[in-house]
Amino acid sequence: MSVENKVIVITGASSGIGEASAKLLASHGAKVVLGARRENRLADLVMEIKAHGGEAVYRVTDVTKPTDLIALVSLAKQTFGGIDVIFNNAGIMPTSPISALKTDEWAAMIEVNLNGVLNGVAAVMPDFIKQKHGQIITTSSVAGLKSFAGSGVYGATKFAVRNLMEVIRMESAQEHTNIRTTSLYPAAINTELLHTITDVNAKQGMNHLYESVGITPDAVARVVGFAVAQPDDVNVNEFTIYPTKQG
Ligand code: NDP
Repeated sequence: MSVENKVIVITGASSGIGEASAKLLASHGAKVVLGARRENRLADLVMEIKAHGGEAVYRVTDVTKPTDLIALVSLAKQTFGGIDVIFNNAGIMPTSPISALKTDEWAAMIEVNLNGVLNGVAAVMPDFIKQKHGQIITTSSVAGLKSFAGSGVYGATKFAVRNLMEVIRMESAQEHTNIRTTSLYPAAINTELLHTITDVNAKQGMNHLYESVGITPDAVARVVGFAVAQPDDVNVNEFTIYPTKQG
């Protein structure tokens, strides 16, 4: 089992779970293709990976734009001759109670967390079907497994991508396309995710939780590595990753 030489597209690679996964996978010989909006962060990360002997490229990518995902996948194929895995990881979490009616934030979450994943799926599907090989890993959340007050729309997007991954897996089995899917359900992971919260009470509560129990994103990166390293006939459907201290 190895991730060596696998070509892996990662969205949301400029910080947190995506960045940690890029570093870990590249350090084990994967060829990583990184997308996010902040170019300076991506450029620095590619430089760091290369300085450690890894292989990486980046392209500024907004996952809400289907053409950006197509271009990112094309970059993978042009640079490394193919694509084996897409890690749909970009996401935002501006949580708030529904009664606050932050409808712009609802729309933004649906655009990035759900449509962004669909755009990633659509960008890889033609190649995956043609080559009868491919893996789609998506970062859902524990908020995609159970409901939390304050996470109505965020949770809705994360429940939705969970369903999507499972349906792609089932249809692939029916259609004999050998596409594997994995959903990740992380709990409190210390990243920049809380920066997207504008609701003062929600932010305070989350800050308190993450400061008291949060763990580093390497925990999720190791799980991504495990899923990628499985042989082609093994699909690891789901991973839940909690800090040991989180109840
Ligand atoms: P970060 O905020 O550190 O990372 C989020 C990433 O998403 C950044 O790289 C950001 O890059 C990218 N992103 C946001 N919007 C877009 C966009 N429109 N197009 C492209 N990229 C975008 O947080 P995490 O690492 O924690 O988040 C990664 C995933 O993990 C998310 O899907 C999140 O919902 C999920 N998650 C996180 C948990 C946690 O506790 N941290 C728990 C459960 C799930 P840029 O701004 O440069 O575009």
